[in-house]
Amino acid sequence: MKQGNIGVTTENIFPVIKKFLYSDHEIFIREIVSNAIDATQKLKTLAGKGDFKGEMGDLKVRISVDKDAKTITVSDNGIGMTADEIEKYINQIAFSGANDFLDKYKDDANAIIGHFGLGFYSSFMVSKQVDIITKSYQDAPAVKWSCDGSPSYTIEEVDKTERGTDIVMHIDDDCQEFLEKDKIESLLRKYCHFLPIPIAFGKKTEWKDGKQVETDEDNIINSVEPLWSKKPADLKDEDYKEFYRHLFPMADEPLFWIHLNVDYPFNLTGILYFPKIKNNLDIQRNKIQLYCNQVFVTDAVEGIVPEFLTLLHGVIDSPDIPLNVSRSYLQSDANVKKISSYITKKVSDRLAGIFKNEREEFEKKWDDIKIFIHYGMLSEEDYYDKAKAYFLFKDTGGKYYTLDEYNALIKDQQTNKDGQLVYLYANDPDAQYTYIDAAKQKGYNVLLMDGQLDAPLVGMLERKLEKSSFTRVDADVIDRLIQKEETKREKLDAERSDKLAIVFRSQTPKSLSSSGETGKGAVDFNVEAQALGEDQLPVMMTQSEYMRRMKDMARLQPGMAFYGEMPDMYNIVLNTDSPLIRQVLEDCEQNTAEALKPIEAELRGLNARQAVLRQEQDKKKPEEITQEEKDDLKKCGEDIRAEQQKRDDVLKTYAKGNDRVHQLIDLALLQNGLLKGEALTRFVKRSVELIK
Ligand code: ADP
Repeated sequence: MKQGNIGVTTENIFPVIKKFLYSDHEIFIREIVSNAIDATQKLKTLAGKGDFKGEMGDLKVRISVDKDAKTITVSDNGIGMTADEIEKYINQIAFSGANDFLDKYKDDANAIIGHFGLGFYSSFMVSKQVDIITKSYQDAPAVKWSCDGSPSYTIEEVDKTERGTDIVMHIDDDCQEFLEKDKIESLLRKYCHFLPIPIAFGKKTEWKDGKQVETDEDNIINSVEPLWSKKPADLKDEDYKEFYRHLFPMADEPLFWIHLNVDYPFNLTGILYFPKIKNNLDIQRNKIQLYCNQVFVTDAVEGIVPEFLTLLHGVIDSPDIPLNVSRSYLQSDANVKKISSYITKKVSDRLAGIFKNEREEFEKKWDDIKIFIHYGMLSEEDYYDKAKAYFLFKDTGGKYYTLDEYNALIKDQQTNKDGQLVYLYANDPDAQYTYIDAAKQKGYNVLLMDGQLDAPLVGMLERKLEKSSFTRVDADVIDRLIQKEETKREKLDAERSDKLAIVFRSQTPKSLSSSGETGKGAVDFNVEAQALGEDQLPVMMTQSEYMRRMKDMARLQPGMAFYGEMPDMYNIVLNTDSPLIRQVLEDCEQNTAEALKPIEAELRGLNARQAVLRQEQDKKKPEEITQEEKDDLKKCGEDIRAEQQKRDDVLKTYAKGNDRVHQLIDLALLQNGLLKGEALTRFVKRSVELIK
């Protein structure tokens, strides 16, 4: 027996491995099994070249757990090692500047293992002793190497007739969980699922006489020929679907997939699936598995795959992705950048291809895939330019259009007086039914924008598209939704419109919260009288596009709390062309005439006086106006306000007792889904009274 010291310049590598690599302990299995696979493949290569002429036998990697002996053994029948090779490959771990490096990457086990070629030594993360029992394919005695975690090892000749290597790991007391069969099996499935040599973990079991018993058959945990390494031409749709089910047993059938296969200027294979997602973007992330020559590395692929495509599911395999580096380094790596834009291009080409050749199919899937496309357009400048060719608008009638098609459709009807194209949209077709209907009757088209990303998309399209704006269909009354030349309709005089507005405004609720809590559900109504045409409803409610967007944004961005705290603002538009509104006005005028007569006379007098005073003072230079004159004008203003208040009170008293006014306001609220709680009950009772 020979003794020696492992060629490590630092005091002792093992405490370092243990301490720094704590969180990633489990990857030892990946490293040890990968070595076994490598050794097996090397043998196959040698045989292929004729350098190995013996029997290859049944090439398998076997893993076994012995709970009593507290060992895990990984066995292969690959090329094995001679004593000299152990000396060379295992004992001489040359490294310099180790401490600096370890400090820097102490949290990143992958980096450390990769940097030092410490694959084998990762076994010491979980073992107090590791033995290598190996017999080379060359004519040399079998040897056993053993090391207990100190820099010293022993090596001796042993009896082993079969070619290959057994790595026996004596598991540490604080790592006993790795002696659980289930644990190892799940790790094997995670890291070694697609390794190219069969990996046997114990025997298959079956139900016999009421209990699970082992069979003779090996329990193979991997599929040796992963689909992505096959030629796309040899595969059928069913193969892809089957593979998807294999990867993600719980997921719905994918919409379609993209087989990536490139060998220049980098090597990359993989399959990306468009999954069916309805909501909750986050759960669906991290469903792309990254492999390096079929060894699972990670399912966190940010940096390698463009952000928006991390929503896709599938596998990517590339030996050209530097695995053992930090994320920030990864993002600046030229190869990785190329890979990322290659993937984007492939995905985009595929979508463009489906759009071009199978438009109907594309439209059918649009609702499901739009989330990816919107996300991409919002997050990647490059992708927006690509997606322009095939991204679709859907209108409220369920028809799909490309941007160009849609512009051509609405150009004539929906260009406003400033030459701006106005895109109308609805995000809740049921709630906005009346508005959509009015827009349609006017010959407008209304888009359906009810997706998760439609709001930011609208903002982005407005920035990108020239002379275009988006307006929600309920943002204004139909005549003003798209401002054309002034419509010539008979208008009420200002005094009568004011009166009407005051009557209604005095009866609008201050809060929409049924609990009546102050502050909560606060609303503010602006009431105006407008001639909207006889065919339109007597009362319409609208919410300014600008305010609504500000409030929506405030909900998402803390910096905009100011908007969030403001009451919700709505416009109530009274249609003065509607006979009903005219009746209300006439009735009001009749009923309040007597009370208002002296007030209005007084107001007219005061207004005239104010005009005269102003005129006189306008003629003078500011310094020539006397204090007395200033006071006069001020007093006059105050008197006007006092009279106005009296007038408002008269109108308010009238309005308060007028069921029609309440009924009309409530109908407007109801139409917008804002009539709730007690107010709704009152409305129902009043309605019953009215039809009795
Ligand atoms: P790496 O695999 O990155 O070279 P390792 O520390 O994992 O680093 O292994 C060092 C070397 O030891 C390998 O390159 C290989 O030559 C040898 N080796 C490790 N495991 C085996 C094995 N099961 N059979 C044959 N040789 C092995």
